[in-house]
Parts: sequence; C-alpha cells; structure tokens
Amino acid sequence: MIGFEGSFLGVAGKISARAVMECKICWTPYDPAEGDDFRQVDPGTPFADLPDDWSCPNCGAPKEQFMVLEDPGAVARQEAAEIAEVTDRLVADFTEVWHSTMRGMPLINKALRVEAVGFRRHEGRILGVLITPWFMNLIQLPDGEDWSGLKPGTKEVIGFASGDYEFIHNTREMTGGYKACSLFSPMADFVRQKDASDVARAVMEALFDPAHRAETDRATDIRAAREAELAARADDSPTIGSAPTRRTLITGGISAQGEAR
Ligand code: FE
Repeated sequence: MIGFEGSFLGVAGKISARAVMECKICWTPYDPAEGDDFRQVDPGTPFADLPDDWSCPNCGAPKEQFMVLEDPGAVARQEAAEIAEVTDRLVADFTEVWHSTMRGMPLINKALRVEAVGFRRHEGRILGVLITPWFMNLIQLPDGEDWSGLKPGTKEVIGFASGDYEFIHNTREMTGGYKACSLFSPMADFVRQKDASDVARAVMEALFDPAHRAETDRATDIRAAREAELAARADDSPTIGSAPTRRTLITGGISAQGEAR
C-alpha cells in the first residue's frame, strides 16, 4: 500500500477493515459499512482500500488527515489475542500431559490431538471446549481473577441459558486454576479431529440456547425410556462402534450433566 503519509501513516498497519475514521479538520466520519456516496465508494470498502486521491467529502482534506474514530475490529482482534494467549497455554499444558502421563494409555484416541475450540469471554470468565485424545470438557478459566487457590475436586454448579452444569475445580502449574465440566470421555466415538471440533462448536452454541433446556429434558426422558426398553430385552445389545450422530452426542453429553446434578 502506497500513499500513506503524515498522521495516517502511524495507524495504517493498526486499523482493521472495520475502522471508522474521522476527518480531523471537519469531523466528517468515514464508515466502511456505508462507503461514500459522494465518490461512488461501495459500502463495505475499508478505509485502507480507498483510492489514494480520495479526500474528505465535506472539506476536501486528504486521506492523511483522517484519524481513527472507533475500530471495533481492532477491539475484537485485541480480545482474540488475549484469549489466544490463555488457550495456547492450556493446549500446551494438556499436550504435555498427553505426551507424558497419558502416553501409551489404551483410552487414548490416536486420531485426535489437543485443541481449544470456541473460547470466548462470558460473564467475566473465559469459556470454551477443550478437546484432548481422551476427553472433551467445557473449560472455564479466570479473566484476571486469581484462581491459584482453587481446591482440586471441589464441585460447582454453573448455570447457562441451556441449563445447569457441574464443573470440577482443578489447578495445573502452567494453566493455573480452572473449572472443567466433562462432556465426553473417553473419545473413542470420534473418528477424526474434525468430528470432535464440530461437536465442540455445536456444544458452544447449544450451551447458550434456552430452547435447548427443554430439548435436553426431553432427550433425558427419551433416553430413560430407551434404556428401560433395552433392559427389558436383554438380547438386544446396542450396536458397538457405530458413529453417533452429532445431535445424540450433544444431547447425550449435556443431558448426562443434567442427570449428574
Ligand atoms: Fe473534512
């Protein structure tokens, strides 16, 4: 990109495509969501992609006279970087466990690796799904709080839109304190990493879906009825090794938490 001089040069590499800029002479904003009717700039055009000879539609000040008014993209990028710092540590920690303590254990699914999925800020904490070759857990991490004093093994019920979930406190040297809610263990039913991460993403959606609360209750009823039916017919053993559907995995995992309450 050429033609950036003066005040804009300092922010050229820092602003995101969503940055709303403002003329520092007359305070006219340029919002990429709206574009610029005056010069036939289409909505969706980032400020950085405006022609070099573009100027303030109101006062004619050159592009270089524009300053950042707000940049939601940069805020999101900063937040993503902060969350990545936390999840990178979590992934490194459990990759280390996999390669040491869990090495050669029979319940390891060799098709899988350690992956953090869907981590985000939620109610002052960081929340997401951790996939390892031997479990899939919902993980809650502190966001600035000191959780180093958490007592491993302590149970805590945490409520979400879809229902209440039992988390167990734990601490690790690298990760520090964290709270974990078991979704699946072991992980034998997942054929590929993508199957596991698809389910993890679906869990992160279902978790915040109030409609899922009723569905979870129904799923529990249906499963209880099915189990009773199976118990009544001893020769009717469930198929082993068949790939579970995504839906049964999610409702199975979540309703199992419901039962554990
Ligand atoms: Fe202006």
